[in-house]
Amino acid sequence: MSLVAVGTVAFDNIETPFGRAERVVGGACTYIALAASYFVQPVRIVSVVGGDFPVDMLDFLKSRGADLDGLQVRPNEKSFFWSGKYYRDLNTRDTLDTQLNVLADFDPVLPEPYQHAEFLMLGNLTPQVQLRVLEQLKRRPKLITMDTMNFWMDTAMSDLLEVLKKIDVLTINDEEARQLSGELSLVKAARVILEMGPKYLVIKKGEHGALLFSEDELFYAPALPLPEVTDPTGAGDTFAGGFMGWLAKTGDTSMENMRRAIIYGSAMASFCVEKFSVERLQELSPELIQKRIQQFADLVHFKL
Ligand code: AMP
Repeated sequence: MSLVAVGTVAFDNIETPFGRAERVVGGACTYIALAASYFVQPVRIVSVVGGDFPVDMLDFLKSRGADLDGLQVRPNEKSFFWSGKYYRDLNTRDTLDTQLNVLADFDPVLPEPYQHAEFLMLGNLTPQVQLRVLEQLKRRPKLITMDTMNFWMDTAMSDLLEVLKKIDVLTINDEEARQLSGELSLVKAARVILEMGPKYLVIKKGEHGALLFSEDELFYAPALPLPEVTDPTGAGDTFAGGFMGWLAKTGDTSMENMRRAIIYGSAMASFCVEKFSVERLQELSPELIQKRIQQFADLVHFKL
């Protein structure tokens, strides 16, 4: 089934306790599309880049079956740029710089085939752009998932609340869930957020895994304990790509299958953090992914 992915395609500067990477490829949509491409093709991309974005990365996305008809290229402008620094606890990071550049006045235009998307991933981006995408759909997708972050809660809360009314699944991290709901307990936060519109809420807790809430069910997936974590950037987006990729591949949006999708998302995120930027996501195979899924199953298996 078709998957449309909306989000940034960007440059990042990253500093972690294990090193630095300057002007490397990043962006929510890049991570989502690469992760999802191991499950479903084409992933139809909606984004914007400047003339500075490397052609070989666009070619690589195409080689992974991405459809770039919805990617606008503005030759005389600069791509979105983000810079972040992680500390010893890799769950906490500071944003050092955000330069919207081409994103400042981005107006997404959905080519015809995109307007019939069956699965839609609204990656982290201006809520106004997320709304513009929703307006152009010819029919309601089977499932709409949305990611966002504190930056948009601080700068565009009313638009964000509008988008929340129109989606099925929201994926955010624990701090963002607390900020959005005003509740410290994640269980209470989930109740408040589910009242805002989404039917499901995924709370990502970095190296502590992810929680899936529906009105009456709760599922927990651990993160795989890894010997080495190099760069957590994009883990959340990669999670979303694996989650939506699995759902789009199977076409099944039952709670039972969403539990499975959470594990696929977690497995893809566990690869993402092993190297800087999108490096690790460029070298995976279905066999490697399946092996890792098995590690997750073994990790939580026990007999009652
Ligand atoms: P994650 O680590 O999953 O939160 O995603 C990190 C990616 O999000 C980086 O590659 C950035 O380019 C991108 N990013 C950072 N800030 C923003 C923002 N305000 N809006 C959209 N994308 C962003």
